[in-house]
Amino acid sequence: MTPKAIVFTDWDGTVTLQDSNDMLTDDLGMGHKNRMLLNDKIINNELTFRNAFKEMLDSVSKNGYNLQYCIDYLIKNVKLDPGFENTVKFCSINNIPLIVVSSGIDIIIESLLFNLLDPSLHKFIQIYSNHVKSPNEFDSWNIVYRDNSDFGHDKNQSILHAVNKYYGSSTERGTLFYCGDGVSDVSAARSCDLLFAKSGHDLVDICIRDKINYLEFNSFHDILSEIKKELNL
Ligand SMILES: [Mg+2]
Repeated sequence: MTPKAIVFTDWDGTVTLQDSNDMLTDDLGMGHKNRMLLNDKIINNELTFRNAFKEMLDSVSKNGYNLQYCIDYLIKNVKLDPGFENTVKFCSINNIPLIVVSSGIDIIIESLLFNLLDPSLHKFIQIYSNHVKSPNEFDSWNIVYRDNSDFGHDKNQSILHAVNKYYGSSTERGTLFYCGDGVSDVSAARSCDLLFAKSGHDLVDICIRDKINYLEFNSFHDILSEIKKELNL
């Protein structure tokens, strides 16, 4: 049975209440002030996310924190959105794929999911993200980007890949939802039917500036009730 919808979601700052890259950079790396300077450059297209991301994470490893320390730090300090678990349950019951598309790092995402979400739900979540080379050597911070795009991961490409996987060349496809909060989510908005942008975050400002249609959300509780409404479930 082909799914009646696919829910794509950003990870950092969308599923998690705190962005792990921001938290590591602020607390263990170059600090909040320096990160914001880089952030402004990304928003104004003076610096690619890809290069800023590396600079930020380099500042963490230069301070002597290895990947395993950072993962443990995040597990202690990061919380998941309070409505996320119910959204995963809803998707699993209704045969709706839930796909995380992230510019973050796979092992960090998997570790947080493993520690913070009901284990019976793990198998329903797919992850498309960047990677760290030699994940068993936790001292290594060699980031392996998913592609050559400015974000290291063109989320739009991952969405097209998933759509092709589930619907192939069929002319009929289900509703594509996308949930996000930041600048790396803009490319994803193009191929989705309904974009959820997190209230008070960069993506809302960008949607307004670039006249992209969006629905604002505070938590996955809002997203879930909107998805139910859209799909009459
Ligand atoms: Mg984000």
